[in-house]
Amino acid sequence: MKNITLLGATGSIGRQTLDVLREHSNQFRLYAIAFGRNVEKAQEIINEFHPRKVVVQDEKIRQALDIHNSHTSVLVGKEALEEISADSETDVLVNAVMGSIGLEATLAAIKTRKQIAIANKETLVTAGHLVMEAAAKYGVDLLPVDSEHSAIFQALNGEAHHDINRIILTASGGSFRDKTREELKSVTVADALNHPNWSMGDKITIDSASMMNKGLEVIEAHWLFDIPYDKIDVIQHKESIIHSMVEYADTSVIAQLGTPDMRVPIQYALTYPDRLSLPISKKLDLIEISTLHFSKMDLKRFPCLDFAYQAGKQGGSMPTVLNAANEVAVDLFLREKITFLEIEKVIENALINHTIIPNPDLETINGIDQEIRRQILKSYR
Ligand code: NDP
Ligand code: MG
Repeated sequence: MKNITLLGATGSIGRQTLDVLREHSNQFRLYAIAFGRNVEKAQEIINEFHPRKVVVQDEKIRQALDIHNSHTSVLVGKEALEEISADSETDVLVNAVMGSIGLEATLAAIKTRKQIAIANKETLVTAGHLVMEAAAKYGVDLLPVDSEHSAIFQALNGEAHHDINRIILTASGGSFRDKTREELKSVTVADALNHPNWSMGDKITIDSASMMNKGLEVIEAHWLFDIPYDKIDVIQHKESIIHSMVEYADTSVIAQLGTPDMRVPIQYALTYPDRLSLPISKKLDLIEISTLHFSKMDLKRFPCLDFAYQAGKQGGSMPTVLNAANEVAVDLFLREKITFLEIEKVIENALINHTIIPNPDLETINGIDQEIRRQILKSYR
């Protein structure tokens, strides 16, 4: 039995993680959860899985929960995220919160040598060097949940690093893949939330439409696999069947394929290096699909991808700025305070106005993250 601690239990990845736990209740126990504001969903999860620990953001949410057994204890506040991640009873941390809020929890789990299934890509974007440095120091593997990175992780299995020509990330193109930039001027939040292949949380769905999601994934791949940016390519593949590929020195390409279903990479991160059956996921039927499409990514059409490459290559504090500006901009767009194309502008301005700080420590990163958010919010009050 492995004890699972799940941060972001009420979200899209969180719920799909629970699907996997349900399938294999003889192997996994939900030990602890954290969530944000969705009390109703959290209550359902508590009633079904009876976790020992539940982390809530504030007293108000604690009071909204209906827990009258002594089996479940409720902890309050951001520090409690770290506490359950590092808890001696936790075997595996699934970090599926949205945003840089997940950073300290990841670091706490690394320091206590947990198995870590990482969905929370913002953590790796905002502080990749700190996370990977700590992972190396404590000898901890970060097992990717993101489908592209799970694919690369599987395609890399056992191969020597110097034999890699390049990594090829595939991108579905998001909700607006067939729209021109002119047409993007008038798109709405509802349009953007309508992703063709995947059902995900709001923030990542907007990131997919702006292609920032792929940009964040380029930086995520750089850190997870220690690959330079000029060896990471992105191609558009609208069916999301090939989840990503590795090209080797001898031109051989190894890809991982499957129907678009996050429960597959989630489960692999929980069972690695073993595999378990997953009857709830539809088998890939290539004859039914019959045709796969590939096309070049246009960095002019999708400037956010370009921003991410540039911020990644510049390094230092630039990825922190990119991530913080993007988190705020997406939030402003979701609240209909800015238009879709203004997301790009907000991020570009933040990057232009920032003076790079090389090799920032945790305190510096948190400071920059807060300052960028404050500055942007100030101009849109
Ligand atoms: P959702 O928005 O669906 O879920 C986010 C989760 O984080 C919710 O459970 C939310 O709680 C919780 N949360 C938010 N703020 C806090 C907080 N301060 N403390 C504790 N919990 C908090 O996002 P997704 O599941 O889509 O994405 C989660 C992460 O996984 C992101 O980093 C995303 O990029 C990554 N990812 C997602 C994929 C997907 O298919 N969805 C694919 C690949 C990566 P509540 O809802 O209760 O407020
Ligand atoms: Mg992905």
